[in-house]
Amino acid sequence: MVHRIYNFSPGPAVLPEEVLQEARDNLLSLGGLGIGILEISHRSREFEAILGEATQNLRQLLGLPAGYQVLFLPGGATLQFSMVPMNLLPPGRTADYVVTGEWSKKALAEARRLGLVHVAATTEGEMFRRVPRNEELRLSDDPAYVHTTSNNTIYGTQWHWEPEVGGRLLVCDMSSDFLSRPIEIARYGLIYAGAQKNAGPAGVTVVILREELAQPRPDLPVLLSYRTHVEAGSLYNTPPVFAIYVVHLVLRWLLRQGGLAAMAEHNRKKAALIYEAIDAHPGFYRGHAQPDSRSLMNITFRLPTPELEDRFVREARAAGMDGLKGHRSVGGLRASVYNAFPLEGARALADFMHEFVRRAG
Ligand SMILES: *Cc1c(COP(=O)(O)O)cnc(C)c1O
Repeated sequence: MVHRIYNFSPGPAVLPEEVLQEARDNLLSLGGLGIGILEISHRSREFEAILGEATQNLRQLLGLPAGYQVLFLPGGATLQFSMVPMNLLPPGRTADYVVTGEWSKKALAEARRLGLVHVAATTEGEMFRRVPRNEELRLSDDPAYVHTTSNNTIYGTQWHWEPEVGGRLLVCDMSSDFLSRPIEIARYGLIYAGAQKNAGPAGVTVVILREELAQPRPDLPVLLSYRTHVEAGSLYNTPPVFAIYVVHLVLRWLLRQGGLAAMAEHNRKKAALIYEAIDAHPGFYRGHAQPDSRSLMNITFRLPTPELEDRFVREARAAGMDGLKGHRSVGGLRASVYNAFPLEGARALADFMHEFVRRAG
């Protein structure tokens, strides 16, 4: 048995052990093929079957209505910061951005390079401790789309209600909570998610969009047009074959776990254990997020001093828990507990937190 520790990394992040084992077993030979998964052609029947099943399973997990396309694209979520305005923001129109953290700031900055933008709401003045309530959104007159970020990986906040945009085209960066809970998919025109937080390894980004948004765009570089990828079924050029394969294994695993409702319940339990430990010692631990915006994926908190935070990280690592150091822009601690993170790991951290207060508090 290989020794594995509890990995609280924000991404790339923990994957289900059975997925890793199956990927390993198929490195030398995919099933009985005699050719490994790293070596097969993206035009082979075997890979087309993998891509086809992954697409079907995503449709089933999300309850995707007809009229939506599923794409597997390179370039990370960051390339979507550019592709979204390139494809959906015509000259003279305005795109609305809801700014709730570092990633949405980057998405806004990229759109600003390409067209007109309007900030519909921002919580930066409150150190991004919460996401805005629907009544705080101030949309422009006729936005080409409204862009939101469902989970703010760095600050540890998450929308626990669907953004209300009065029928405007809603675009959402779901990189860090994709497939962690059921969503009302029909409210969204386009969603995108880098796989490496919750859905697989780094190297592929899932984009789901309404078909009519993929219009012919002869003015764009061919690889930056959604239409290219819709027409080619994500096979215009060589896609990240291995990353897509691992996403495919994760999707099968999700179905075996009982789908997104079961995942949401699993994630609620894990996050509750850690938030309870924070709330049990209010003079010692300080959660960054306001309670109504607390993320179930990334739990951010501070200790009384930076020295204690360093000691916490060090001693947690010695106890078999790594990846807990917060992002440099917030400091403190961050526990990322994506889908594949086990309940026992959350319990181990909560126990460690109680015990650390007794030792160091
Ligand atoms: C990690 C992350 C990104 C950036 O993803 P890349 O794949 O590195 O480009 C964007 N948005 C959110 C919400 C993220 O968590």
